[in-house]
Amino acid sequence: MKPVLDQQVLVLNRLWQPVNMCSARRAFTLLFLGHAQVVHTDPDRMFDTHDAASWLAISEGYDGPDLVHTVSHRFRVPAIIVATRYDRLPRQEVKFSRQNVFLRDGHTCQYCGVEHEPKLLNLDHVVPRHKGGKTTWENVVCSCIRCNTRKANKLPAEANMFPLNEPRPPRWRPLFSAGGSGIGRFLHDSWRHFLDPSPARVTVSH
Ligand SMILES: [Zn+2]
Repeated sequence: MKPVLDQQVLVLNRLWQPVNMCSARRAFTLLFLGHAQVVHTDPDRMFDTHDAASWLAISEGYDGPDLVHTVSHRFRVPAIIVATRYDRLPRQEVKFSRQNVFLRDGHTCQYCGVEHEPKLLNLDHVVPRHKGGKTTWENVVCSCIRCNTRKANKLPAEANMFPLNEPRPPRWRPLFSAGGSGIGRFLHDSWRHFLDPSPARVTVSH
C-alpha cells in the first residue's frame, strides 16, 4: 500500500473543474497555506468545503487508515481539494504521445476519415521529417497504415493529401477524458462526480 502522504488527491480549480492530481503531501501544503480547501462529501452527498481548521475538526471525529498524525493533531487525507487561487495550479499540458494523438483525432485517419482500432493506425508527419517536419502536436496526425504508406515522404501538396483537421495541441487532458484509462479506476467514489463525461451540477452547501 502507498504511504498515506503519497495518496492521490484530485485538484479542482476555482470553477470546480478537475485540473490535476497531486499527492496528499502537496494537498496539505496547499491547505495549510490557504491556497486550497478540502472538498468533502457529507452523508447527504452534498459537497462542502473546509479550510485547515474546519478540516481538522472533521478529522478529529474520523477513524480510518487514511490519517496523517502530527505532534498534536491528526488529519484525514482529503480525496478532493479546490484551489482558492489560480496561480498556484498551472494547467497541465497534454503529453505528446502516440496514444494521445490517436485520442485527439478520435482514432480517425486524418486523410481518409475512417476510424480504426489502434493497431491499424500510425502517426503521420504532415511535413515529413526529412523536409524539416517536427514531431509535435502541430505536425503529427493519426493516419491509417494505407494512407500513411500512400503519402510516404511527400508534402501534403505533393501527395494531394491534406489532414481533415488542422493539427493542434489538445485542450483536454487525457487523464480526465471519457474512457481515459488514467482515471478509469476512480480512486475515490467522490471523484466520479467531477470526472464523469456528463457531470451533474455541483451542489455546494454553505
Ligand atoms: Zn486513411
